[in-house]
Amino acid sequence: MIYGGPSISDAERKKYSAYTLSNYKDIPQIEDLSQQHLEEIEIAARILPFRVNNYVIEELINWNDVPNDPIFTLTFPNRDMLLPQHYEKMADLLRNDATEEDIQNEIQKIRLSLNPHPAGQLEKNVPEHDGKIIHGMQHKYDETILFFPAQGQTCHAYCTFCFRWAQFIGMDDLKFASREIELLISYLQEHPEIKDVLFTGGDPMTMSAGLLKKYIEPVLEADIRSLENIRIGTKSLSYWPQRFVSDKDSEDILSLFSNVTEHKKHMALMAHFNHPRELSTDIVKKAIQNIRATGTQIRTQSPLIAHINDEPALWEEMWSEQVRLGCVPYYMFMVRNTGAKHYFDVPMARAWEIFQKAYQNVSGLARTVRGPSMSTDPGKINILGVQEINDEKVFLLEFLQGRESKWVRKPFFAKYSPTASWLNDLEPAFGKEKFFFE
Ligand SMILES: *Cc1c(COP(=O)(O)O)cnc(C)c1O
Ligand code: SF4
Repeated sequence: MIYGGPSISDAERKKYSAYTLSNYKDIPQIEDLSQQHLEEIEIAARILPFRVNNYVIEELINWNDVPNDPIFTLTFPNRDMLLPQHYEKMADLLRNDATEEDIQNEIQKIRLSLNPHPAGQLEKNVPEHDGKIIHGMQHKYDETILFFPAQGQTCHAYCTFCFRWAQFIGMDDLKFASREIELLISYLQEHPEIKDVLFTGGDPMTMSAGLLKKYIEPVLEADIRSLENIRIGTKSLSYWPQRFVSDKDSEDILSLFSNVTEHKKHMALMAHFNHPRELSTDIVKKAIQNIRATGTQIRTQSPLIAHINDEPALWEEMWSEQVRLGCVPYYMFMVRNTGAKHYFDVPMARAWEIFQKAYQNVSGLARTVRGPSMSTDPGKINILGVQEINDEKVFLLEFLQGRESKWVRKPFFAKYSPTASWLNDLEPAFGKEKFFFE
């Protein structure tokens, strides 16, 4: 391995194997689960995303703590993630040997009721070129364009809370995709306000180095001066750090990253970590080292998720460890209003408390993190805190990103509510009719 450090042992040179509903019973640890539990997994996994791999199974999940283990909850759907009426309906169909067609129709119906494209992602923010809509891209905030490479719309494992689930459970007409890198380049040339291209998915790091190169190199070669940063959004450091250490094209991935920095663009890996355990293995540390050696900066983000990471001490540990390993904490997100939101929800008031408690105990170097932030239709809204003003208890909020740039960093107020967990649960404070952005 050219990117330094002692060479890896054969034990660490793992071959990727994926498990889904069709073969998860081959996982040796599954033998210890009850029949009842397996049935519940199988019913929930009909609706929600389910895919896990040998690294997650062997090195991340603590099987002594199943079913409560946070990484198990993160990757294995469970009964409570479905609403009771949805669970019962599915259980009924499956137990009574309904036809596959009836089952599929019901699955489709339930999924559509779970808001598969929150924040109007599907119809809004789609860019146009020469009067034609460009699929597979999203341009919502002036300075950043999202690009969804067609082959990167899957992940090394799936998160049960994921709002991108519609993209990989076969709801085809809802799928973003693009083979059109030329269109991206023309669009960047026409829009000098764009500073960042963010390759996202799914997980673009599921693509081979060769494919990833086909997307990134033309952008570098086009030599677009206004483009400053290339970002890749990925969960591979958590779910398959081998990607940057011991896969057969790991060196090519790392040289591609070096190539970006050599072209005088900033290369940022937007790494998704949900739990400190994901930072604890030798291989993830090695992966972080290798990536940093290419001049790439790793920034970290995660949603705040009930049953998985809703404890201040855990965030404190996660942010501190990230800084120690040379990563920059970036965002804490509120769980999107999609999928199994009722299960993963953390109310805004509690989210702010968790953020504040963790933030107060970390080094100033970790206080680059912002949040808790809601990615809503008008923009990314940050919860700054709870205050009492003239006897009215209120949330203090601000935009970190706005559909209109002039909204950014403009503080505003909403009536306090102990249960509110999203923008649509809020009302303006001080008797106002509307929020300023409505
Ligand atoms: C979060 C987000 C971005 C990137 O925002 P930053 O604050 O620059 O990280 C870009 N586009 C969309 C649609 C987003 O949700
Ligand atoms: S890795 Fe990201 S895109 Fe993939 S399932 Fe998890 S949250 Fe969704």
